[in-house]
Amino acid sequence: MNDAPMSVGPLKRRQARAMTVRWQDHSVVMGGGAPVVVQSMTNTDTADAIATAIQVKDLARAGSELVRITVNTPAAAEAVPAIRDQLDRMGVHVPLVGDFHYNGHKLLQQVPGCAQALSKYRINPGNVGAGRRRDDNFAQMIEVACRHEKPVRIGVNWGSLDQDLLARLMDTNAARSNPWDAQSVMREALVTSALESAARAESLGLPGNAITLSAKVSNVQDLVAVYRSLAARCDYPLHLGLTEAGMGSKGIVASTAGIGVLLQEGIGDTIRVSLTPEPGGDRTREVVVAQEILQTMGLRAFAPLVVACPGCGRTSSTFFQELASSIQSFLREQMPIWRSRYPGVESMQVAVMGCVVNGPGESRHADIGISLPGADEAPVAPVFVDGERTVTLKGERIAEEFQAIVENYVQRRYGAAQHVEHA
Ligand code: SF4
Repeated sequence: MNDAPMSVGPLKRRQARAMTVRWQDHSVVMGGGAPVVVQSMTNTDTADAIATAIQVKDLARAGSELVRITVNTPAAAEAVPAIRDQLDRMGVHVPLVGDFHYNGHKLLQQVPGCAQALSKYRINPGNVGAGRRRDDNFAQMIEVACRHEKPVRIGVNWGSLDQDLLARLMDTNAARSNPWDAQSVMREALVTSALESAARAESLGLPGNAITLSAKVSNVQDLVAVYRSLAARCDYPLHLGLTEAGMGSKGIVASTAGIGVLLQEGIGDTIRVSLTPEPGGDRTREVVVAQEILQTMGLRAFAPLVVACPGCGRTSSTFFQELASSIQSFLREQMPIWRSRYPGVESMQVAVMGCVVNGPGESRHADIGISLPGADEAPVAPVFVDGERTVTLKGERIAEEFQAIVENYVQRRYGAAQHVEHA
């Protein structure tokens, strides 16, 4: 046996410089050792102020700490102050980030109310024009950011890479005695574009602590390579995420693989999971997935987690799957109220297990757990609280009775914590 216990050690957080995004009294800090921030983006027509405000509210209530909206037309820019007003009236103070491409320099200057209502601007250096115009347009956007004291994300993207820069790096590469492959040159072009644009923004007067960087690609290995390089070459806070991650499980798996590797290395200060929603699907899914990445890695806690076994031939029915799903939904639905009423509840673990093989053991490890009867087992479900077996449920109302036990446990354990804190 080894003398030393197994450990991954604490995740080594890279200390990026801190950047604050504000709306009135509400502020979100990225970098500087702050917890990794969850953000998301709307998919409504921004010119439709009501629909956009409602979706921002839904994303914020789901836990998005920043919400980005596209600002692509004069009508969209005109709608931004109305969206902000509507959110403030609803008591939703989440900072809004404006996503600009091609005409951002014009929109920000022509609609000062938009420039003011946004808390941060996202600028893609590959989409601000070509040649001389690119430099002028970029400078105009940075000038507006400085005037309104707004931070900026310089967000480069694989799909809209600055072609002049890529051509320059291709030429440099061709002169090497051992030229890199095309993919390596492309990765270097992304990183160089982000770093050179950030340096230019600083030379135009934007403070270094008002800049975040992102370099989005759609492939996991490219993401890891590009962000490792960025992290080694600058100390701006980094926004992680795949672009076009995809639909359903593919989008979730690809995002989790890429973001997870980087977070484990201490790289990344804010994340967005770019899922393509199913037609009619819920946009807030991307927020839940981002939270679950952070929570399952032990970096943050947002809502109690349900541990459930996968089920197997010993599972007598779908009842335990239904119970796991209904308890998880119940816990998430309670969080807007529980978060302030029961501090610490977000770290609670609930186990729902399908039979006696691993059920009692796993349930004992959780704060509260239930072990349902498997095939050929007595139709009873022991409940475990803080590692001790308590009541045994049976009959038609197991789900309702277990939910009531969970609710009582939360009140007793985390309500008490609040009273002590306030005493
Ligand atoms: S706990 Fe029981 S039902 Fe669940 S996977 Fe294990 S053996 Fe199967």
